[in-house]
Amino acid sequence: MRKNTIISLIIIMLLSISGFLITQSQQSSVSAEEAVITVDDLNIRKGPGMEYEILGQANQNASVQILDQSGNWAKIQFQNTEGWVSRDYIRKRSDQNQSKKVVQISVTDANVGVHSNPSLSSEIIQKVSTEQSFPIVDEEKGWYQIQLSNGDQGWIGKWLVDSNLDTDKPVIGKANTLEGKVIVIDAGHGGADTGTISASGNYEKYITTITAQSLEKKLKTLGARPVMTRTDDTFLTLENRVAHAQAYQADAFISIHYNSAPQFPNVNGIGTYYYHDRQKSLASSIHQKVLEATGAKDRKVTFGNFLVIRENQQPATLIELGFLSNAQEEAKINTMTFQEKATNGIIRGLIDYFQ
Ligand SMILES: [Zn+2]
Repeated sequence: MRKNTIISLIIIMLLSISGFLITQSQQSSVSAEEAVITVDDLNIRKGPGMEYEILGQANQNASVQILDQSGNWAKIQFQNTEGWVSRDYIRKRSDQNQSKKVVQISVTDANVGVHSNPSLSSEIIQKVSTEQSFPIVDEEKGWYQIQLSNGDQGWIGKWLVDSNLDTDKPVIGKANTLEGKVIVIDAGHGGADTGTISASGNYEKYITTITAQSLEKKLKTLGARPVMTRTDDTFLTLENRVAHAQAYQADAFISIHYNSAPQFPNVNGIGTYYYHDRQKSLASSIHQKVLEATGAKDRKVTFGNFLVIRENQQPATLIELGFLSNAQEEAKINTMTFQEKATNGIIRGLIDYFQ
């Protein structure tokens, strides 16, 4: 009896220990991981694939529990729904805690390139779309290194993102050829001077302003010192524009224009001008990179008798970024994609020129 009692006790103890163990392991398997949805209108599906029925949707920043994973899909619990979502659009809380700084893509362009290195000339490893958020891993002048949902890391231009970082924070980074360079950006025309009138009836002065503002923003994030000859729709004499280059001792002066040849509606392409021979290298650097970036027809770097470059003591160029009289080219010019490409090209050209 006594022996049996001891055996019974041992059995009871073992059972309770194993019961305890079972409870523990069950607990750990059911303690689902917390995650956050990173996009709006994310479809929750019945199974781990696009072919499965949609059960519901979740919006950005919604908290979910990850119950299971299969390939690139995660089974989640969201409110009263259990279903599967693409792992590209969720971020585990544990990942988020490693880096609280998060960037959100703010451009409306659906295809923002994530680069392999903090340089526009480096390979694009992935395209990301608007409204997605990514944790920041590191930063360099003008660039954030971000964590992509597939685990890779890549670099994205700071001008493409909204971030919750404080922008006054000094940024440590590699020496940058644009650092401290004074770039006078001259948005062609303005005020009563509308510039050319496009095929659709738009004024050149508005489009040059858009390009100039985009360029200014990017140059700032890259550590340069952009100076705008005009920031709003005001008239400015040509002499006044040149005076900006002189007053600020510009390292480069870029006058932005769009061309027109209404009598030849098929004419298209980009042309860049110099007046003095000493201005040739700036014009060539910018022209080449803008052509590469936009894929536009090459209308060459040529001599042009424009006051803003003729009277300019500083390195100066004038670029005609396409023909507004060509309806097709105008439509392209009006896209954010083109504007991005054109201003990225100008920046690459400047980097090239200062190297
Ligand atoms: Zn013009």
